[in-house]
Amino acid sequence: MGGARMSEDLLLEETLIKRSQQKKRTSPLNYKERLFVLTKSRLTYYDGKAEKKSRRGWIELSRIRCVEIVKNGGVVIPCQNKYPFQVVYDTNTLYVFAPSHDSRSLWVQTLKEEIKDNQVVMTKFHPQLWQEGAWLCCRQAEKQALGCEGYNLFGDISRKPLPPIPGEHGNERPGQEDDIQEEDDDDDEEEERVVALYDFTGTEPHDLSLVKGGEYVIVDKCDVNWYKARNSYGEEGYIPSNYVTEKKSGALQEFVWYSKQVNRNKAEELLRKEDKEGGFIVRDSSAAGTYTVSLYSKSAAGETSPVIKHYHIKLTQSSPPQYYLAEKHLFDSISDLIEYHKHNAAGLVSRLRYPVGKQDKSAPSTAGFSYEKWEINPSELTFMRELASGQFGVVRLGKWKAQHKVAIKAIREGAMSEEDFIEEAKVMMKLSHPKLVQLYGVCSQQKPIYIVTEFMELGSLLNYLRQWRGSFSLGSLLSMCLDVSDGMEHLESHGCIHRDLAARNCLVNDSLVVKVSDFGMARYVLDNQYTSSSGSKFPVKWSAPEVFNYCRYSSKSDVWSYGVLMWEVFTEGRMPFEQNQNHEVVTLVLNGHRLYRPKQAPPFIYDVMHQCWLEKPDKRPSFSQLCRLITEALEGDAPPLV
Ligand code: ADP
Repeated sequence: MGGARMSEDLLLEETLIKRSQQKKRTSPLNYKERLFVLTKSRLTYYDGKAEKKSRRGWIELSRIRCVEIVKNGGVVIPCQNKYPFQVVYDTNTLYVFAPSHDSRSLWVQTLKEEIKDNQVVMTKFHPQLWQEGAWLCCRQAEKQALGCEGYNLFGDISRKPLPPIPGEHGNERPGQEDDIQEEDDDDDEEEERVVALYDFTGTEPHDLSLVKGGEYVIVDKCDVNWYKARNSYGEEGYIPSNYVTEKKSGALQEFVWYSKQVNRNKAEELLRKEDKEGGFIVRDSSAAGTYTVSLYSKSAAGETSPVIKHYHIKLTQSSPPQYYLAEKHLFDSISDLIEYHKHNAAGLVSRLRYPVGKQDKSAPSTAGFSYEKWEINPSELTFMRELASGQFGVVRLGKWKAQHKVAIKAIREGAMSEEDFIEEAKVMMKLSHPKLVQLYGVCSQQKPIYIVTEFMELGSLLNYLRQWRGSFSLGSLLSMCLDVSDGMEHLESHGCIHRDLAARNCLVNDSLVVKVSDFGMARYVLDNQYTSSSGSKFPVKWSAPEVFNYCRYSSKSDVWSYGVLMWEVFTEGRMPFEQNQNHEVVTLVLNGHRLYRPKQAPPFIYDVMHQCWLEKPDKRPSFSQLCRLITEALEGDAPPLV
């Protein structure tokens, strides 16, 4: 980097204090003075004075997702600078402490201005610090937990004019770039160590294979879905980020009996489906950072039908705390507690005989099969039974490299604008979320082209609802809605519009998780009956008025469709406006008519649907608001814990 360019780009420069990023939970936090330099492309921090500095780390501005002041909420700040702000990039948060209110404002506003066109800006953030294993603002104990407050990138900028850019410092310090080291990470921090949750067999030379339970060091978080890691032999390569977990004592992820993403209703459904005496699941409680054991018994004393009990894992007040389910039996860890109750009911309705939910569950999907790999070699695919056929062609169950079950869609000649899709597929592959059907890749060098996605054992949500009509509890209906709003929130936060959200375009897997599928695919359909709003296949009954009138799609038009999807869920798969033709629905909706309240939908839920169907798009809730509303309904619905 030349000195001249440096001075052109320079926006801010000041000595601030940086908190270590505490990548390992047990490492003590430290606070170090660093010279921070902000240019148009990077935020860099250096050790030492401006005249003789060595670079310790930097963040590309394009990777920054949020910059905001940190509300300190009464916490004592253990360094002389008392004005913290945060820079969230990829999945990390950097805390920087400024010496004054004005200095902090200047940094925050300047950074905000620089990131305002970033694709990855967050919709929610944590206004307070991550400290001692929890977010101080919301007490969530998961570092990656969704923020608890809406993030407004333009909040301050709109109120205050931007400060002037400081003058030409660069030329005054000859030779500075000779001192820059090619060192991109802090060596004052410990390396991040992780444990593999699943086996992963690398498929490309640049991959690194994982062995379940093995320990690895993270070398570079180059992508949210793929990290570069090192094994104990010093070999390096890419691994799927969702296959590893931070190594910390007490992590439950590695145990077969722990299911993180399971709420009370889903736990009950899984236990009932398994129908095994002593079937149990340990899951996160609705109160963050606490756990519940859900236990199934077919022969509980005095009961004629099976019962499910939910036991909170409680903590003593001692330091360190101990865990217990039944008062007399205290344990140092949750795993010790579970081990004990596997052999002794000790007050529970049964002993914990049979872990349900994860033991034979295959590893989660990865964003593609390898880092930056989206083209799949068709000779690696084996075709199995036909699953169904859709707008684009036949969908088959298959295997990739004879081991991963996948769904393979063979695209019928003339059904899709293939080149546009293939271009977009590279972006779609990066969208990876537990509530989105994962796109693994495409076979684009042949006809017909294939689209390869995650296989969902139970097929479409619409069929699932119809097939099991009459057997769903309120909780399980709400939990389906929550899954979809979770997935949609992820799309919304990445600026991706679905355009055809409906129960037929969601799929269900064998853990009864509902995932959103076919997002954005409507743009590649070559069929006038489907694409023109007067066409017979146009999803008018799911469309917001601005869509069937002006083709104006947005996340808020997805919200309208989501309201209709909720209606489909609560009628267990009825056709909306069953008695009406599409053109009649247009008139009805424009005259203010809306779908009726399904019998199973409590008024509160029908009210949420109605909010989705407000005429003005910006009056409708966002998906993150919908997630909150439905979570509240789910929690309100649950009977108290025993
Ligand atoms: P299209 O996009 O061509 O209209 P869909 O994606 O709607 O096709 O798929 C049609 C049907 O194929 C679905 O309703 C479902 O039954 C089945 N299907 C599609 N994708 C999968 C999948 N990933 N796993 C299991 N079944 C699937």
